[in-house]
Amino acid sequence: MPTEGGGPVCLRHEAFDVYIGREGHGFDPAPWGNPVRLGRTCPVCTHTHRERGSTLSCYEHWLRGRVAVEPAFREAVGGLYGLRLGCFCPPGRPCHGLILAEVAAEIAGPSEDHLLEDVLTFLRDGQRAC
Ligand SMILES: [Zn+2]
Ligand SMILES: [Zn+2]
Repeated sequence: MPTEGGGPVCLRHEAFDVYIGREGHGFDPAPWGNPVRLGRTCPVCTHTHRERGSTLSCYEHWLRGRVAVEPAFREAVGGLYGLRLGCFCPPGRPCHGLILAEVAAEIAGPSEDHLLEDVLTFLRDGQRAC
């Protein structure tokens, strides 16, 4: 699981620090919400994702691309490190928050981290994307 005290949490069940999803549900959209939606043309790969969980590789590509070229965005993502990232994904399901937490850890956390393994495990077992 993610770093103690940080990483994605299901906001239906747990307290969280920052909402990381899209607009709606009474929340303002987070700048790091997943822009890739099932059943619509993907802005990253131009294909249409059908399977839940299949958007996450494109989400990672998108997130890392922005982090690479936007210093303020990179800093903001780094600021998520150690925070509880609230999303609607049920516990134990693949969530873009895992990738967000991983990238935040790379920016602001200790150099060694096991989050990547968690992400890969989630992707392998995944059924649902944000
Ligand atoms: Zn895609
Ligand atoms: Zn999620």
